[in-house]
Amino acid sequence: MNEFLFTQILTELEDAVGKENCSTKLVDKVAHSVDYFWLSRMWADRGREMPMGDFIVSPKDAQEVSKVLKIANYYKIPVTTWGGGGGTQGGAIPVCGGILLDTKRMNQIYDINEQGMYIECGAGAIYKHIEWAANERGYSTMHFPSSLTCSTVGGFLAHRGIGVVSTKYGKIDDMVLQMEVVLPNGDIINTSSAPKHAAGPDLNQIFIGSEGTLGIITKAQIRIYIQPEVRRFRGFLFKNMHAAFEASRELLQIFKPSVMRLYDDAETASLIKKIVGVAKPGAFMNIAYEGKKELVDVEEKILLETFAKYGAEDLGSEYGEKWWEEKITFFYPGHMMDLPQMFGTMDTIAPYDKIEEIYWAMKKAIETKYPNIKFIAHFSHWYEWGAMIYDRFICDNPPQDPIEAMKLHNEVWTTGVRTALAHGGVVNDHHGVGIKLGRLMKEQYGPAMQVFEGLKKSLDPNGIMNPFKLGL
Ligand SMILES: Cc1cc2nc3c(=O)[nH]c(=O)nc-3n(C[C@H](O)[C@H](O)[C@H](O)COP(=O)(O)OP(=O)(O)OC[C@H]3O[C@@H](n4cnc5c(N)ncnc54)[C@H](O)[C@@H]3O)c2cc1C
Repeated sequence: MNEFLFTQILTELEDAVGKENCSTKLVDKVAHSVDYFWLSRMWADRGREMPMGDFIVSPKDAQEVSKVLKIANYYKIPVTTWGGGGGTQGGAIPVCGGILLDTKRMNQIYDINEQGMYIECGAGAIYKHIEWAANERGYSTMHFPSSLTCSTVGGFLAHRGIGVVSTKYGKIDDMVLQMEVVLPNGDIINTSSAPKHAAGPDLNQIFIGSEGTLGIITKAQIRIYIQPEVRRFRGFLFKNMHAAFEASRELLQIFKPSVMRLYDDAETASLIKKIVGVAKPGAFMNIAYEGKKELVDVEEKILLETFAKYGAEDLGSEYGEKWWEEKITFFYPGHMMDLPQMFGTMDTIAPYDKIEEIYWAMKKAIETKYPNIKFIAHFSHWYEWGAMIYDRFICDNPPQDPIEAMKLHNEVWTTGVRTALAHGGVVNDHHGVGIKLGRLMKEQYGPAMQVFEGLKKSLDPNGIMNPFKLGL
């Protein structure tokens, strides 16, 4: 872009959001160029420059977002939305430059509505902040993802996020009532306040998971729940994963625990020694169940009976209680895999009739093709009809050259995802698509992809919204 046009656009953006909320400084551009996508971190770590936005703007509300989008549409420049930058798929990276719109000034809490059982907040609010606000009134959002302290309400909606008590309370799409969204042309709309209506397709579901490609979420009403009277934990060791799947499927037809975490052989091997002091083979499962005490007593009885039928060894509650205290700190720097390791989480989702086959096929495909790469998994989000494989690959010594590292990284992802798709899996449960998996969207959806492409064309005819994300 020439200097003349650049300055012209800058003055218009400054007019829209205020000079102090519009930056072209290198420090701000760099800070908005690396998210939690391994490739972006590796690229920067090896001294290469990531793509950057030309203008970093921070609007305070939907009206200012609307003005920014009208400017972008007029000049036909890309707009990439940035929440907390905690996404793992490179969704917030401004790969084509243009405007980088940071939502974090839209962090207001407008209302805690105890009668309607929701909290209304700006989409740029960090999730932990709305959880604290709910807690002050004795409620909880019951959304506890590991990135609770660094990701935003809008980011979780844009990626269809999920937290550790999802089996009972659901994903973010079960927790949102209404959203305010600014369409690419600058129009401000509200989705319906009663999401299970029969007045056409649910507008919420069009924007949830759309990763900033169809509009920008500026406000949301998020459900609040009463705090459980009791929350109990129980650990079990199954002979193998198959027995654990059978037991869990049966249990979920009767009631929904809040936490369910089943670890594969490899993860169990490293955990079980810490729990019982000696090595034991099998598949370890950590369960929590909660609510009113009388109901929880009944649930506990059903849990113990059902799991005993499948030969599970009861390991008591100590591990689960400790895990609950540390559920987020596990992910803090120093406790997690990190550079120079190469790693990724594929979070494949599948129904029970396919899940075991997918797990074994992915493990075999990756470990056979790449002997230096380890494939481990746990299963931490469960539904009545299936579960999610939190499948991770880890490579301790990836190539030093960034281009070679990118090639290997993308090859491993393609191998894993294609194997999952070939066995009936869906990619993915909650991490989204971003730039990382855009190339595989057509393989997953086939002709159904035209539904997304049609929506994109009609809402964003100039193609300015987060280009190349979500395969659009
Ligand atoms: C340590 C760690 C642990 C994690 N654990 C979990 C977990 O347990 N569960 C889980 O679901 N995720 C988890 N994640 C992933 C991440 O937190 C989620 O993907 C989250 O949704 C990203 O939110 P963000 O605000 O950081 O979004 P960003 O990374 O800033 O953006 C993500 C995408 O959403 C779009 N976007 C952001 N805000 C808006 C908006 N207001 N309107 C429209 N589009 C928008 C962006 O353009 C981009 O495409 C984890 C990440 C980390 C770093």
